[in-house]
Amino acid sequence: MKIIFLDIDGVLNHTLWFQSEERKLISPENSRAIWFDPKSVALLNELTDATKAYIVISSSWREGYPLEELVAILESQGVTGEIIDQTPSFTFKQITPVPYLVPRGCEIQAWLEQHREELADRLANAKYVILDDQSDMLLCQQRNFLKVDPWCGLTPTIIEKAKTLLW
Ligand SMILES: [Mg+2]
Repeated sequence: MKIIFLDIDGVLNHTLWFQSEERKLISPENSRAIWFDPKSVALLNELTDATKAYIVISSSWREGYPLEELVAILESQGVTGEIIDQTPSFTFKQITPVPYLVPRGCEIQAWLEQHREELADRLANAKYVILDDQSDMLLCQQRNFLKVDPWCGLTPTIIEKAKTLLW
């Protein structure tokens, strides 16, 4: 089983998209269409088509929507890869006076540990990529982490690197 840990903001949307003429032309009734750049969605689809990897949502959007709704939102905007799960959320469940931000890499690692038997003989051999515009990943994940530029979101270069990691 191959996995793509998917962030959303800065990955499927980005600064250039928010400033684009194309986005301004979307009718207000189709409000969800303004959230994602169709070109970024197409690049993600290219990756899942080529590698047959499953998607696990690691974005903070999982704090705002139940998984089924998040899947429905992404599918309605053209994501064709199979979204099988989301990473556990540690950050907002801490019982501390001040919100304690857990690195996203810890949540991803917890998911990997929970599914280690489905992934590979050893976790070190698991085929996964992390697509994220933030860098709070663990040292052991650096080989699998592809940092996305929030200015332009997913690019063909990132997708080619992801394919190499997943093949
Ligand atoms: Mg992000």
